[in-house]
Amino acid sequence: MTAKIPVTIVTGFLGAGKTTMIRHLLQNAGGRRLALVINEFGDVGVDGEILKSCGVESCREEDVIELANGCICCTVADDFLPAIEALLKRADKLDHIVIETSGLALPKPLLKAFDWPQVRARLTVDGVIAVVDAGAVADGRFADDAEALAAQRAADPSLDHDNPLEEVYEDQLLCADIVVLNKTDLLSPADAARVAMEVRGAARASTKIITAQEGRIDADIALGLKAGAEDDIAARPSHHDAEEEHDHDDFDSFVLAAPSLADPAAYIERLAEVARARDVLRIKGFLDIEGKPMRLLVQGVGARFRREFDRAWRPGEARRGQLVVIGRKGLDRAAIEAALV
Ligand SMILES: [Zn+2]
Repeated sequence: MTAKIPVTIVTGFLGAGKTTMIRHLLQNAGGRRLALVINEFGDVGVDGEILKSCGVESCREEDVIELANGCICCTVADDFLPAIEALLKRADKLDHIVIETSGLALPKPLLKAFDWPQVRARLTVDGVIAVVDAGAVADGRFADDAEALAAQRAADPSLDHDNPLEEVYEDQLLCADIVVLNKTDLLSPADAARVAMEVRGAARASTKIITAQEGRIDADIALGLKAGAEDDIAARPSHHDAEEEHDHDDFDSFVLAAPSLADPAAYIERLAEVARARDVLRIKGFLDIEGKPMRLLVQGVGARFRREFDRAWRPGEARRGQLVVIGRKGLDRAAIEAALV
C-alpha cells in the first residue's frame, strides 16, 4: 500500500490573498514537491499565471492545473476529479497537492469529494485553510445590515442572512482547520484585535487562528496539519447543509476587454472609481500599455488596487487588455463597460 498524498484546500473570499499565500508556500516548501489545482472565475487565469511564474525551480508548468469553468464546488465531478486523476498518474513525483478554490466557492462540497472511495483510497485532506482579509472584516463587508435583515425576517422568519457575502464567508470559516487572518498590518492594533475576536467567535472552537502579512505563513504548519478532514465532514457546518444543490445566484461576473493604454495610472483611478460607484467586489487581469514590452497585472479588492509588470508579452501573443469583474447580482455591466472600455 502506498501512502496517501496529503491535500491542502485553500479557501477564502475574493481578494483575501489566497494566491499570494500559496506563492509564499511554494517558495518556502522546504523541498516538498507541490502540485497546484487553481480554480478561479473567468478565463483570464490570473492566479494560475502568478503561480506559474513563481520562479521556484521544482515547480513546473505541468504541476499547475487551472480550472476556470466556474466554481470548483459546482463542478466537482466534471472538472475536479479528472484533474485529480491526471495528477495521480504522476503521484510518484508529488509530495503534496494544494487546491486554491475560487473566492466564491463553498469548501464543503469539495471536501465531500474526498470521502468518495476512489479518492479516499489515494488522498487525504491534510487541512482546510481559510484566508481572511482582515480589512474587509473590519469594514463590515461580511456583516448583515441589521435593519434590512429585521425587515426581511418580519416577512420571512426562516430567513438566514441578508448578506450573501456573509454566507460564503461563514461557510469558508466554518470548514477551516486554520484561519489565516491576512493583511492585519493594514489595520490599527485595536481594529486588528477586534477582527481577531470576531473571527474567533465565528470559527469552530478547534480552528486555529494565525495572523499574517502578505500571506507569509510557515509551510511546516500550513502543510503539516494532518487533519484528515475527510473523516469529520459532518463537524463542519454550512449554510447549505439542508440543500440538495447550491447555487451562486447572488453573484455576477464577466470579462471586460480593456483598451490599450498610454497612462495606466489614470485608468486604474477609473477602475477604483467604478469599483466604488458600482460596488464591485473584485477586478483583476492584464493590461496592455503602449510602448511597454511587459504586460501590466492589475488586481483590485473593492477600490484598493495594486499593479505590477508581471512578464513580457510573448512573441505571437495578442497584446490585449482583459479584466475579470465580479460583484453581487445586478452588477451593471453596461455602465461598467461604458466607463472602462
Ligand atoms: Zn458551487
